[in-house]
Amino acid sequence: MDKPVLKVKNLKKTYKFVPHYIPALSDVSFDIFPGEVVALLGLNGAGKTTTVKIILNFISADSGETEIFGVDSRFSISRERLSYLPEKISLQEELTPSELFEFLGRVFNYSETETKQKMEYLLEFVKLNGKENLMCGKFSKGMLQRLGLAMALFHNPEFLILDEPLTGLDPLGMRMVEDVIIEKKKEGITMLICSHELDFIERTASKIIILHEGKVLSNFAKKDISVPLKDFFFKVIAE
Ligand code: ATP
Repeated sequence: MDKPVLKVKNLKKTYKFVPHYIPALSDVSFDIFPGEVVALLGLNGAGKTTTVKIILNFISADSGETEIFGVDSRFSISRERLSYLPEKISLQEELTPSELFEFLGRVFNYSETETKQKMEYLLEFVKLNGKENLMCGKFSKGMLQRLGLAMALFHNPEFLILDEPLTGLDPLGMRMVEDVIIEKKKEGITMLICSHELDFIERTASKIIILHEGKVLSNFAKKDISVPLKDFFFKVIAE
């Protein structure tokens, strides 16, 4: 059997602001295998973002383990083959996509020509061709989200973590992002997607994990779920 791309084992987390203790994760475990597109679903406050933040080492767990490609995710080397697109992407308003990609090119040691070719390909992929010299401050929310996705794909990540990738997008923007995700799925890119958009998840995900009050309530391959995802989700949450 393939080794997991992501291993999450017995995560526990309580946010402590003495005298307040806010439980976020009481016991979260799951694995993601190569090529899987895994949806992490749950009501507001279920613990999705906390789980992602621990995976990315933005915050630490009280206990438990997270491994990416077999390496403890607290080590930065574990994250070299992944990209993360946050729900709200914040880019400096006066910078242009051209300048942002130039920066990425330097970070990843690409030549100027390679960087330009990659940028042109990716901007076209997210339907932003011709916008390379427009300042980010002039981009709409949907355009920024698509730019973020293009930037996240720059170094050919093998694992993508997308937090609410459709938030704030108009129907056309949603369709474009969904098309990109489906294309990346076909290429075999592994993904973890947090989303409240159950129809979108139904069309894109191969595995469904439902978190509730900091616990995994359900972890199924989508093909094994015989009812519409919305019905399944509410049934699991209600039980
Ligand atoms: P949403 O769908 O609203 O984004 P979520 O599933 O991502 O929710 P989390 O943001 O992980 O849920 O929150 C889990 C619990 O932890 C909630 O009770 C929340 O109030 C609490 N929490 C999250 N972040 C913090 C924080 N920085 N400080 C204190 N409590 C927090």
